[in-house]
Amino acid sequence: MATIFSRIINGEIPCYKVAEDEKNFAFLDINPLAEGHVLVVPKTETDYLFDLSDEDYTSLQLFARKVAKALREAVPCKRVGVAVLGMEVPHAHIHLVPLNSESDLDFRKPKLQLTPDRMKQIANLIAEKL
Ligand code: 5GP
Repeated sequence: MATIFSRIINGEIPCYKVAEDEKNFAFLDINPLAEGHVLVVPKTETDYLFDLSDEDYTSLQLFARKVAKALREAVPCKRVGVAVLGMEVPHAHIHLVPLNSESDLDFRKPKLQLTPDRMKQIANLIAEKL
């Protein structure tokens, strides 16, 4: 069965899309740790990030860097934090989270609840910087 991220990539489930290329897709995390929390996902359905082929892994990391640069311009922050968990969704992905302090990357924190309008606005702001 297709993963939830494959269904998002295929347009079967809506998302706040940020960017896409031939091999990769980026969209806002639905339960963000911070405004501008993005997930960067390879289109190929591989569970574990470090099981990706060299080509797909490299492509994903280069794509993540592009998105992270745009994210930092769109959402002012000290750094863009990078995390790989995969505890919930068995489809490799990288979390990009705008950081102003170490605690901003604490996944145990309560998640933000943003309105659909705000989510759309943030996704568009990042997309415009790409
Ligand atoms: P992980 O697998 O890295 O532990 O967590 C998966 C992440 O994907 C979580 O932060 C969760 O909020 C996000 N997520 C799970 N399902 C969806 C979804 O349907 N849409 C979006 N945009 N994010 C999701």
